Amino acid sequence: MASLLTFEEAQERVLAHVRPLPAEPVPIAEAAGRVTAEEVPAGVDLPPFASSAMDGFAVRSADLPGTLRIAGESAAGLPYEGRLEPGDAVAISTGAVVPEGADAVVPIERVVKTDYRVEVTDAVEQGAHVRPRGGDVRAGDAVVPAGARITPARIAAAAAAGVDVVSCRRRPSVAILATGSELVPPGQSLQQGQIYEANGFMLASAMATAGADVSTEPAVADDEAVLRKALERGLEADVLVTSGGVSVGEHDLVRAVESELGVKEVFWGVAIKPGKPLAFGVHNGTLVFGLPGNPVSALVGCELFVKPALRALQGVAEPLPRFDTGRLTAGLRRNPERDEFVRARSRVDGDEVALEPVVGQESHMIVRSGSADALVHVSRGNGELAAGATVRWLRFD
Ligand code: AMP
Ligand code: MG
Repeated sequence: MASLLTFEEAQERVLAHVRPLPAEPVPIAEAAGRVTAEEVPAGVDLPPFASSAMDGFAVRSADLPGTLRIAGESAAGLPYEGRLEPGDAVAISTGAVVPEGADAVVPIERVVKTDYRVEVTDAVEQGAHVRPRGGDVRAGDAVVPAGARITPARIAAAAAAGVDVVSCRRRPSVAILATGSELVPPGQSLQQGQIYEANGFMLASAMATAGADVSTEPAVADDEAVLRKALERGLEADVLVTSGGVSVGEHDLVRAVESELGVKEVFWGVAIKPGKPLAFGVHNGTLVFGLPGNPVSALVGCELFVKPALRALQGVAEPLPRFDTGRLTAGLRRNPERDEFVRARSRVDGDEVALEPVVGQESHMIVRSGSADALVHVSRGNGELAAGATVRWLRFD
């Protein structure tokens, strides 16, 4: 690891190897969290007709103030048949068609109504409380852009515009493989020297949330033959993510076995803490991430490199995590060689975000990290960032 890549350089190299996956049609009922492969055009103008924003009376603004004859009703889904004649009003509900000839709606609260007449004492502006046809979107214009993650509001936007199926990128398949002879599944009892396997569960949940179709292999021992078999299976996925076994120890076999299997290593080692011995390579179409075994290192590596790759595979327009700015509540010593990603709790303080580093920053301390919702970027350098310093941070969940 002579000269380590910065995390930005490493992210660039990862993204340079990502080709967005093919598109497939997805019914909107199943599209939550998916990413659009192309722009989704509106099937109709929205609203599809000039409609009322209020319960009240459709009128001709030129007639007001005055007393009008109630000529009929326009209810939602049951339009008034015919034209509004001078001197007439039509009772109207929210969302109902504004009849032809009417150019404004007077809310019910602003009229005095008798059996057949309605008295309006104020003038009304043309267009008042009328939602013009196409005011939200015009037929053919985009309701969702390309490369956008589909949120509940975007599902509603597509549905409202008459779209029932959207073209989305295929979800990336991800194989997860935890390595280490010490690992035992939670629920069993521990023998001396064993620990519970945690990374596989952590990575599976992180990647499912990022839109991946995850399969978790049973954890494997640090044994070449066993490891080779499991890696071979994992290489069939779009993305293979291992944990453990990528450092410099005698039993760190992942890179060597992957190399035998034809994985071309793109880089090994990134100037970050935690997570330095992270490895990235490619094998045919498969992206291969070797995350370090310490759970916090694996978590940080996943946020900085694996999740951006998953987003890019899904065609997300801006796959890299977005940094915000905030203020440290406590001083942090800088690391001269590596950028640090310090786990912290964020809270709003006035119109700023205050970031309180959690106590216990060592890379095995996953329980301490469990209470954090922020990764604070402490760029490499000398001295310390004082309490109150402005820093960049990213939310992690
Ligand atoms: P390694 O990267 O294999 O040297 O592992 C670094 C540290 O992380 C060691 O203390 C391992 O026991 C621990 N570790 C490795 N894999 C896991 C895992 N899947 N879950 C929890 N801890 C792990
Ligand atoms: Mg290990």
